[in-house]
Amino acid sequence: MQISLFTLEFNKLIMIFVKTTLNSYKKMKRICNFIIALMSVVCMPSHIAATEPIAKHVVFIGLDGWAANTFEQSNIPVLKKLASEGALSLSKRSVLPSASAINWASIFMGVPTEVHGYLQWGSKSPELTQPEGAVKEHGILPTIFQVARQQHPNANLALFAEWDGIKHLVDTLALNHFEEPKLEEMVSRSSEYIIRHKPELIAIVFDRPDHPGHDSGWGSPEYYEMMTKVDSYIGEIVDAVAKAGIYDQTVFVITGDHGGIDTRHGGTTMDEMLSPFIISGRGIKHAYKIPELIMSPDITPTIAHILGLIPDNIWTGRAPLSVFK
Ligand SMILES: [Zn+2]
Repeated sequence: MQISLFTLEFNKLIMIFVKTTLNSYKKMKRICNFIIALMSVVCMPSHIAATEPIAKHVVFIGLDGWAANTFEQSNIPVLKKLASEGALSLSKRSVLPSASAINWASIFMGVPTEVHGYLQWGSKSPELTQPEGAVKEHGILPTIFQVARQQHPNANLALFAEWDGIKHLVDTLALNHFEEPKLEEMVSRSSEYIIRHKPELIAIVFDRPDHPGHDSGWGSPEYYEMMTKVDSYIGEIVDAVAKAGIYDQTVFVITGDHGGIDTRHGGTTMDEMLSPFIISGRGIKHAYKIPELIMSPDITPTIAHILGLIPDNIWTGRAPLSVFK
């Protein structure tokens, strides 16, 4: 009896000891976590601080060869409605040369030609040595998809590209889904995806109106006809976003890689270098004319800002902050 009483008291003492130790361990852990959190805030340079997300979803639509000087004359009611409900610049400037791979690389990597090193319209790999240490584990400079994947590991990220050159300019390994549909299937495939997966970021890159530009000329009737067709496709994509129930949580970012003159581009005229830039949706000012200069490398930091992602240190582009409410 006495032994069992002693055992009882001893057990109580042990329990008190364990509880006290546990409590102080928990307290210590809490204090350590607080110090670590405080240190990370204090030590984080202000230019790489994450911001509160503007929206949960971004739909990026790229139009190859979309020239700014054709915007007003075009019969593009969907794009004009998005622009009037959101913000518009008709001075989005390409990097040089004003050609496709060079500018899509800048658009997705947030850096100019001199940094990403893709120098030809159809470059599949960089022709310049890229900055030391900048190439990430997927063998490519940090794109918007890679940064979104790192910081939001469970995010659904997708890319639909009509031109088969795009896949060399993004890290497809960071994506949940990558596809190269023909023009006729671009909308049905990407719309289905939006409705089914409600992606955090989907990029839909049309290889138009570049084709009628090269065949018949920038500003030709065929060019305007194609713009009207692409506009109706974009209307279907907007409908899919509404059907998915995420319209109120989405920002649309729409631009071109370069413009064109006669039947060519790649040169230094403003006809070739300027494209429209539209940003429209949650948290974006209405009927706003964007005063900031916007260039191809600014697209990726803009998308990052909307999604509340910390920009990669190598990105030289920046979001046009005045467009946000
Ligand atoms: Zn192009």
